[in-house]
Amino acid sequence: MKTLLIERRARRVMALSGWGIAAVLLLGASTAVARGPRILVPQDVPNEVTALVESAWASYLDAFPAKHDCIGTVELVLVANVPAGEASYRYADHLVRIEIPTTPEDFPESLAHELGHHLDRACGAREEIGARLVVTQGLDRAASWDQGVLWHEIPAEHFAEAVVEVALGRRLMHADIVTLSELTLRLVSDWGNGKH
Ligand SMILES: [Zn+2]
Repeated sequence: MKTLLIERRARRVMALSGWGIAAVLLLGASTAVARGPRILVPQDVPNEVTALVESAWASYLDAFPAKHDCIGTVELVLVANVPAGEASYRYADHLVRIEIPTTPEDFPESLAHELGHHLDRACGAREEIGARLVVTQGLDRAASWDQGVLWHEIPAEHFAEAVVEVALGRRLMHADIVTLSELTLRLVSDWGNGKH
Protein backbone atom coordinates (compact mmCIF):
# COMPACT_ATOMS: atom_id res chain seq x y z
CA MET A 1 0.00 0.00 0.00
CA LYS A 2 1.68 3.17 -1.14
CA THR A 3 -0.54 5.81 0.37
CA LEU A 4 -1.97 5.21 3.77
CA LEU A 5 -3.33 8.62 4.56
CA ILE A 6 -4.10 11.76 2.63
CA GLU A 7 -5.31 14.76 4.49
CA ARG A 8 -6.55 18.09 3.31
CA ARG A 9 -7.49 20.91 5.56
CA ALA A 10 -7.89 24.60 5.28
CA ARG A 11 -5.19 26.79 6.67
CA ARG A 12 -5.66 30.50 6.45
CA VAL A 13 -2.51 32.31 5.43
CA MET A 14 -2.34 35.56 7.31
CA ALA A 15 -1.82 38.66 5.20
CA LEU A 16 0.53 40.14 7.78
CA SER A 17 2.85 37.20 7.55
CA GLY A 18 6.39 38.22 6.76
CA TRP A 19 7.00 34.92 5.14
CA GLY A 20 4.77 32.16 4.01
CA ILE A 21 6.35 28.87 4.63
CA ALA A 22 5.86 25.32 3.54
CA ALA A 23 7.70 22.42 4.94
CA VAL A 24 8.47 18.90 3.94
CA LEU A 25 9.61 16.48 6.55
CA LEU A 26 11.52 13.49 5.42
CA LEU A 27 12.26 10.49 7.48
CA GLY A 28 14.44 7.96 5.78
CA ALA A 29 15.08 4.60 7.34
CA SER A 30 18.58 4.83 5.94
CA THR A 31 19.26 7.88 8.08
CA ALA A 32 17.61 6.57 11.20
CA VAL A 33 20.42 4.28 12.14
CA ALA A 34 20.17 4.06 15.88
CA ARG A 35 21.00 7.71 16.28
CA GLY A 36 18.84 10.44 17.46
CA PRO A 37 16.41 11.70 18.11
CA ARG A 38 17.44 14.56 15.96
CA ILE A 39 15.97 16.95 13.45
CA LEU A 40 18.01 18.10 10.49
CA VAL A 41 17.30 21.62 9.31
CA PRO A 42 18.64 23.04 6.04
CA GLN A 43 21.24 25.75 6.34
CA ASP A 44 19.29 28.22 4.23
CA VAL A 45 16.37 28.32 6.63
CA PRO A 46 15.91 31.80 8.15
CA ASN A 47 17.16 32.03 11.72
CA GLU A 48 13.75 32.87 13.09
CA VAL A 49 12.35 29.71 11.51
CA THR A 50 15.18 27.62 12.87
CA ALA A 51 14.45 29.01 16.31
CA LEU A 52 10.80 27.99 15.99
CA VAL A 53 11.79 24.52 14.85
CA GLU A 54 14.24 24.07 17.70
CA SER A 55 11.76 25.26 20.29
CA ALA A 56 8.97 23.01 19.05
CA TRP A 57 11.35 20.07 18.71
CA ALA A 58 12.61 20.51 22.28
CA SER A 59 9.05 20.63 23.61
CA TYR A 60 8.19 17.53 21.62
CA LEU A 61 11.13 15.56 22.97
CA ASP A 62 10.47 16.71 26.52
CA ALA A 63 6.86 15.54 26.28
CA PHE A 64 7.72 12.08 24.94
CA PRO A 65 10.90 11.03 26.74
CA ALA A 66 10.18 7.30 26.39
CA LYS A 67 9.99 7.55 22.60
CA HIS A 68 13.34 9.05 21.68
CA ASP A 69 14.74 5.83 20.27
CA CYS A 70 11.87 5.24 17.88
CA ILE A 71 11.66 8.89 16.82
CA GLY A 72 15.07 8.56 15.20
CA THR A 73 16.12 11.15 12.68
CA VAL A 74 13.74 13.63 11.10
CA GLU A 75 14.85 15.86 8.27
CA LEU A 76 13.13 19.17 7.73
CA VAL A 77 13.10 20.62 4.24
CA LEU A 78 11.45 23.95 3.61
CA VAL A 79 9.79 24.32 0.25
CA ALA A 80 7.93 27.14 -1.40
CA ASN A 81 4.88 27.18 -3.59
CA VAL A 82 2.72 24.64 -1.84
CA PRO A 83 -0.79 25.88 -2.59
CA ALA A 84 -2.10 27.78 0.38
CA GLY A 85 -4.80 25.98 2.25
CA GLU A 86 -3.66 22.48 1.49
CA ALA A 87 -1.58 20.11 3.52
CA SER A 88 -0.82 16.49 3.05
CA TYR A 89 0.78 13.70 4.94
CA ARG A 90 2.03 10.61 3.22
CA TYR A 91 3.78 7.60 4.52
CA ALA A 92 5.12 5.25 1.93
CA ASP A 93 7.59 2.50 2.59
CA HIS A 94 10.12 4.04 4.95
CA LEU A 95 9.58 7.61 3.90
CA VAL A 96 7.49 10.20 5.66
CA ARG A 97 6.79 13.27 3.56
CA ILE A 98 4.86 16.19 4.90
CA GLU A 99 3.96 19.48 3.30
CA ILE A 100 2.85 22.27 5.58
CA PRO A 101 1.77 25.64 4.27
CA THR A 102 1.67 27.77 7.37
CA THR A 103 2.59 31.05 9.00
CA PRO A 104 5.11 31.94 11.73
CA GLU A 105 2.37 31.90 14.34
CA ASP A 106 1.14 28.51 13.24
CA PHE A 107 4.46 26.87 12.48
CA PRO A 108 5.19 25.24 15.88
CA GLU A 109 1.70 23.78 15.98
CA SER A 110 1.87 22.55 12.39
CA LEU A 111 5.22 20.95 13.05
CA ALA A 112 4.05 19.32 16.28
CA HIS A 113 0.95 17.98 14.52
CA GLU A 114 2.97 16.34 11.75
CA LEU A 115 5.48 15.06 14.28
CA GLY A 116 2.45 13.54 15.99
CA HIS A 117 1.77 11.54 12.85
CA HIS A 118 5.40 10.50 12.92
CA LEU A 119 5.04 9.30 16.52
CA ASP A 120 1.94 7.38 15.53
CA ARG A 121 3.78 5.54 12.78
CA ALA A 122 7.32 5.26 14.06
CA CYS A 123 6.50 4.48 17.67
CA GLY A 124 3.34 2.43 17.25
CA ALA A 125 0.88 4.67 19.04
CA ARG A 126 -1.98 3.25 17.03
CA GLU A 127 -1.22 -0.28 18.12
CA GLU A 128 -0.50 0.56 21.74
CA ILE A 129 -3.12 3.16 22.67
CA GLY A 130 -5.27 3.63 19.57
CA ALA A 131 -8.22 1.60 20.80
CA ARG A 132 -8.24 3.43 24.13
CA LEU A 133 -7.97 6.85 22.46
CA VAL A 134 -11.01 6.12 20.32
CA VAL A 135 -12.93 5.53 23.54
CA THR A 136 -11.58 8.54 25.45
CA GLN A 137 -12.43 10.73 22.46
CA GLY A 138 -15.89 9.26 22.05
CA LEU A 139 -15.23 8.32 18.43
CA ASP A 140 -16.82 5.54 16.43
CA ARG A 141 -15.10 2.36 17.57
CA ALA A 142 -15.62 0.81 14.15
CA ALA A 143 -13.95 3.67 12.33
CA SER A 144 -10.67 3.29 10.50
CA TRP A 145 -7.73 4.71 12.50
CA ASP A 146 -6.47 6.95 9.74
CA GLN A 147 -9.14 7.17 7.08
CA GLY A 148 -12.42 8.97 6.99
CA VAL A 149 -14.65 11.35 5.13
CA LEU A 150 -14.46 14.05 7.78
CA TRP A 151 -11.00 15.10 8.95
CA HIS A 152 -12.19 15.90 12.45
CA GLU A 153 -13.61 12.41 12.94
CA ILE A 154 -10.40 10.54 12.06
CA PRO A 155 -8.79 9.01 15.18
CA ALA A 156 -5.23 9.54 13.91
CA GLU A 157 -5.93 13.26 13.65
CA HIS A 158 -7.19 13.34 17.22
CA PHE A 159 -3.96 11.65 18.28
CA ALA A 160 -1.89 14.20 16.34
CA GLU A 161 -3.85 17.03 17.97
CA ALA A 162 -3.25 15.47 21.38
CA VAL A 163 0.48 15.43 20.62
CA VAL A 164 0.28 19.15 19.86
CA GLU A 165 -1.39 19.91 23.17
CA VAL A 166 0.81 17.61 25.22
CA ALA A 167 3.98 18.98 23.60
CA LEU A 168 3.16 22.68 23.36
CA GLY A 169 0.55 23.03 26.08
CA ARG A 170 -1.82 24.81 23.71
CA ARG A 171 -3.67 24.53 20.43
CA LEU A 172 -4.94 27.32 18.27
CA MET A 173 -5.57 25.97 14.81
CA HIS A 174 -7.93 23.06 15.33
CA ALA A 175 -9.18 23.50 18.87
CA ASP A 176 -12.57 24.53 17.55
CA ILE A 177 -13.14 21.34 15.58
CA VAL A 178 -11.33 18.72 17.66
CA THR A 179 -12.04 18.76 21.39
CA LEU A 180 -9.63 16.72 23.47
CA SER A 181 -10.75 15.09 26.70
CA GLU A 182 -8.62 15.12 29.84
CA LEU A 183 -8.48 11.33 29.65
CA THR A 184 -7.06 11.54 26.13
CA LEU A 185 -4.38 14.01 27.11
CA ARG A 186 -3.41 11.87 30.10
CA LEU A 187 -3.37 8.73 27.96
CA VAL A 188 -1.06 10.27 25.35
CA SER A 189 1.17 11.90 27.95
CA ASP A 190 1.49 8.71 29.97
CA TRP A 191 2.28 6.76 26.81
CA GLY A 192 4.99 9.25 25.96
CA ASN A 193 6.46 8.71 29.40
CA GLY A 194 6.44 4.96 29.09
CA LYS A 195 3.39 4.42 31.29
CA HIS A 196 0.70 2.47 29.58
ZN1 LIG B 1 -2.91 15.44 10.40
